[in-house]
Order: sequence, then C-alpha cells, then structure tokens
Amino acid sequence: MPRILIVGGGYAGFYTAWKLEKQLRRGEAEVTIVDPLPYMTYQPFLPEVAAGSIEPRHAVVALRRHLRRTTVIAAKVTGIDHAHKVATITPIAGEPWQQEYDQIVVTAGAVSRTFPIPGIAENAIGLKTIEEAVAVRDLLLSNFDKAAVLPPGPARERLLTVVVVGGGFAGIEAFAELRSFASSLLKRYPQLSFDETHFHLIEAMGRIMPEVSLKTSEWVLKDLAKRGAYVHLDTQVTGAVGGNVELSSGETIPTDIIVWTAGVMANPTVVRGGDLPVEERGRIRTRPDLRVGTAEEIVHGAWAAGDVSAVPDLTGGGVGGYCVPNAQHAVRQGKLLAKNITAVLRGEEPKEYFHKNLGAVAGLGLYNGVFQSGKIAIKGFLAWIAHRGYHGLAMPTWERKWRVLWGWWNNLWLGRDIVNLEAVQTPRRVFEEFAARPRPAQAPAVEEKKPAAKSAASEKVAAQG
Ligand SMILES: Cc1cc2nc3c(=O)[nH]c(=O)nc-3n(C[C@H](O)[C@H](O)[C@H](O)COP(=O)(O)OP(=O)(O)OC[C@H]3O[C@@H](n4cnc5c(N)ncnc54)[C@H](O)[C@@H]3O)c2cc1C
Repeated sequence: MPRILIVGGGYAGFYTAWKLEKQLRRGEAEVTIVDPLPYMTYQPFLPEVAAGSIEPRHAVVALRRHLRRTTVIAAKVTGIDHAHKVATITPIAGEPWQQEYDQIVVTAGAVSRTFPIPGIAENAIGLKTIEEAVAVRDLLLSNFDKAAVLPPGPARERLLTVVVVGGGFAGIEAFAELRSFASSLLKRYPQLSFDETHFHLIEAMGRIMPEVSLKTSEWVLKDLAKRGAYVHLDTQVTGAVGGNVELSSGETIPTDIIVWTAGVMANPTVVRGGDLPVEERGRIRTRPDLRVGTAEEIVHGAWAAGDVSAVPDLTGGGVGGYCVPNAQHAVRQGKLLAKNITAVLRGEEPKEYFHKNLGAVAGLGLYNGVFQSGKIAIKGFLAWIAHRGYHGLAMPTWERKWRVLWGWWNNLWLGRDIVNLEAVQTPRRVFEEFAARPRPAQAPAVEEKKPAAKSAASEKVAAQG
C-alpha cells in the first residue's frame, strides 16, 4: 500500500488528510500525519481569543477526533531525505526515528519572522499559536489587576500600555481586539481610567493592511484613533530592552506587552532540514499542481501547500506571482492536494490550483469590522457581522463550529469571559506551598556524658509533648 506522510497538521495538512479520508478507497493508501501539536489552529480566531471573545479550546480542532483513518503522530519532522524517501521524526518523547514514505506532503506552515532588534527575542510575543493568544489575554488581565492596586502614576500606566508591531491584517485585528477588550475591562476596574490605557501599533510602511484599498485602510486608522489606539506609520522598533520600546522616531514607550505580528517566514526546521528545492524567499518551490518542483522539473512523490510553499498564483494576483500566505489558499490547496494525490495514485493527471481572491474581512473589536472585495468596502457593524458569519462557517467541522457559535451567543448576553488563567503556568504552586514534607533527618546522637538532672528534665518534657 502506498504510504503518504503529511508534515504538519495545520490548515493545509488537516484538510489534505481530511479529504484524503473521503477520496481514498479502503486499502488504497496509508496516511500518516505528523505534528508536534495534537490540534490544528484556526489562526484567524487568535485575536478574538486574546480578547476573551472565544474560548481557546474552541479555536482549535483535535486531529485524532476528526481524522479517524489517519495515523496521527505527535512529533516534529526534523529532516527530509527525499532522495531516499525517508523523513526523520523527532517525537515529543523518546528517540527520533526514520520513517519511510512513498508520497510526502509538506504543510508545515510558517513562523513569526523577526529582525535582530535588541530585546525582541527575549521580551516580545508572537500571535501565531493558541498558547500565545492565551498568554497575551492573561498578561493583559494580570496587568489590569496589578495596576488597580498601584497609585496613579507611570508604573501603573506602564502596565496599561500595549504595543503591537506590524500593521498587516493579523496585527491590526489583534490591536483593535485588544483595545476593545481593554475598554470593556475598565467597567470592572473602577480604580482605572480610560486615559491611563495606551495602545500603540508600530508599522514600518506608510500604510496598514495592504489587503484592503488605501481609502479603507485610512478609515481603519481614523476609527482606531477615535477609540484611543494610535498607529505610528513609517516607524520602526529599534529596541525593546528594560521594559521600554524604542522607536526610530526617537520616542520611547514603557510597556511589558509587546505583540510581534510583523510578518512570517516558511518553517525553517522543515525547509532547511530537507533536500526539497527552495526558492529565494525560503519557501518550497511548488508547481501549480502542488507537486514540488518547477515547470521543467517535477520532484516526483513530493507535494507542498500553504505558507511553507511558493505556489504560483495563476490568477495573475499574488505577490511576485505567488499565492500570498493565507488561510483562503491553504484550505483550498489542501483540498486540491488530496484530489491530486488520489489522481496520481490512480494513474490520472493532477489539476492546477486556481483561486481568485474572495476579498478580506477583519474584526476590529466587538461590533466593528471591515470588509473589502474588489472596489466594494463595508465598514463597521455590517462588516463585523460578515466577519463572524464568514469565520463561523469557515471553522472546520460542525463540532467546532457549534462550540464557537454557541460561545458567541453566550457572550452576547453574558458578556466576554474575563477569567485570567495565568496561574495555570504554575499549577503546583499552592500544593507545593502547603505540602507536608519529611522532617530533616535527626543528627546522630553524640556519645557524651550529660548532667543527670538535665537529661531527666528533657525526658519529662518529651513525655508531656
Ligand atoms: C492572527 C492571525 C490571523 C489570521 N487571519 C487570517 C484571515 O482572516 N484570513 C486568512 O485567509 N488567513 C489568516 N491568517 C493566515 C492563516 O492562518 C495562515 O495562512 C494559515 O494558517 C496557513 O496554513 P498552513 O497549513 O500553511 O500553516 P499552519 O496552519 O500554521 O499549520 C502548520 C502546522 O505545521 C506544524 N508544524 C510546525 N513545525 C513542524 C514540524 N517540524 N514537523 C511537523 N509539523 C510541524 C504546526 O504545529 C502547525 O500545526 C491569519 C494568521 C494569523 C497568525
């Protein structure tokens, strides 16, 4: 039986495996998916998770629950030797091993792309994983708790300051959602005032959100400013040391919440750890039919999709002629990839990937959003409905859709959940604090003659005790 190995169970990998289960006849191929995480993450929900509007576990899909005919392995792929069709699997426990395959599907996504700016690696946090979104939510809540017990002044305002770096779609959504969250929190913290909260987004370019028109992006800037969230255009972060973010404009912003959303790069572990062809921007060179290779040369038995790959955009759009890294493409590529592998296994020809951009929709905090498709732009409440409607339906599996939709419905009349679970980072703290411990071993009795009266007295005390 041909063995198909899928590297990465995110958007593209999950959809490939899910659709392969539907396409393949029983016994036609054996499918294995390898991912260090036991779930795929619906990343467009991360800003809402950070803002307390979506329960974190609802924004991820358990691989084992929905991939019933696929072998799921909790591990990283750390090497691909395609010349010999073997991958190195490094599990979350135990020793690495070599896994043979006939077809490999590389869908290991992307990681946050940073620059060597002092302090960023140590003090900033990305927003690519559910863990990061939860940590940002909890940090903001902890900071509100700390600020509420401090007297007004710089130390308090520092705790109530948030800096987001990168004005792309993800950055703006995260920034707007966090602003909306912080504003709504103020009614639970009567000690704190709106004027003490400070929100700054730093963008190196002269505009934000390249996915929407300039006019729409300017509306977003004005709308954010009205809500007390300021975007610094044409500005770069030059340092993030000692609790201060330094900017190329000379300004310094004191804060300990620095969310880095300034771009992504193809997963370096998988790209560099293998012998598949890589293009100038570090992505796996992929053909329009999703096989690895170029128009002239096919790398047989190797496929790639999603953020890790450079798939030509046959619509003529894209950046540099390639599909941009987004979920719209990753999902559709995953679905086509399943069809194409099945076709190739049956001796048929694979089809080329062609998808015209549907537009972009972003949530900008509760009851506010922006939608753009071609020249049509919708702003405000209607766009927010479109955002929730689109993503509610796009969430894979009905089991997960229900949880998200039910959560939104509950929030509508119960309000956001503002529970701070930062203490889960140190779950043993209380137990350890009060746990009984064995008494220190008694010092060996010293053989010496004591005065008779003293030893009689101590024996009496011991007997009373
Ligand atoms: C905050 C945010 C908001 C977004 N909003 C939108 C939006 O509104 N619309 C849109 O279209 N797109 C959006 N995107 C982009 C979209 O989520 C990504 O383009 C999409 O997730 C890419 O899918 P993928 O399958 O290539 O990678 P991923 O979904 O990132 O999956 C990669 C998988 O590979 C696994 N992996 C990593 N290393 C290894 C390894 N060594 N071995 C095995 N597995 C590995 C990871 O654990 C992960 O599960 C957003 C992204 C972010 C961060």
